[in-house]
Amino acid sequence: MSQAPGNLFILAAPSGGGKSSLIKALLAKYNDGSMQVSVSTTTRNMRPGEQDGVHYHFVSKDQFQQQIEAGNLFEWAEVFGNFYGTSKIVIEQTLQQGIDVFLDIDWQGARQVKKALPQTHSIFIAPPSQETLRKRLTGRGQDSEEVIEQRMAAARSEIEHFNEFDYIIVNDDFEQALSELEHIVLAQRCLQTQQSAKHQQLFKNLLQK
Ligand code: 5GP
Repeated sequence: MSQAPGNLFILAAPSGGGKSSLIKALLAKYNDGSMQVSVSTTTRNMRPGEQDGVHYHFVSKDQFQQQIEAGNLFEWAEVFGNFYGTSKIVIEQTLQQGIDVFLDIDWQGARQVKKALPQTHSIFIAPPSQETLRKRLTGRGQDSEEVIEQRMAAARSEIEHFNEFDYIIVNDDFEQALSELEHIVLAQRCLQTQQSAKHQQLFKNLLQK
């Protein structure tokens, strides 16, 4: 994959970090077609309310393996016993159209993407405290203490990698976190390399004697 007009963003967070709500709110604000969230492929079971092709492309383990072997995946990882991956061609084509793409992936995928495309902007969303994280993970249902402890441990294993990311947003106040995310995105859009590619004609005109 080569440098493309669109920006590529990685958003990672432990479960309970508030990542999905932040992306959803950002996309609702910028509903002008200038940004998209990549739809990953996964082998995990569909949850109630999820739609194939919208939340994920749901496939069997064999189908996932075939995609790896065919070289179709930009990155992939096993997360909590299921496989998840990002389509190479979709990302490439979307970026080439000048559309910014968000990858909602884990730290393992983030490492692979950064290595392949170092100009990717990676963002880690952290909860403001252990107590808030526990509350967010408990608030979802009547799970046993053991299940909650498992989720806390899983969250910690994602948080361990916070210092591998370019940006960190502490999601305490939602509006503040959203504003920080928006500012990060807008700043990348104003990078000289992006603007030069986008406004070639403008600079030609401005420099004409
Ligand atoms: P969930 O099953 O709750 O939707 O997602 C579990 C974890 O897998 C989340 O941390 C999510 O970011 C991560 N994930 C989702 N899609 C991908 C992907 O395409 N690649 C990687 N590496 N992780 C993913």
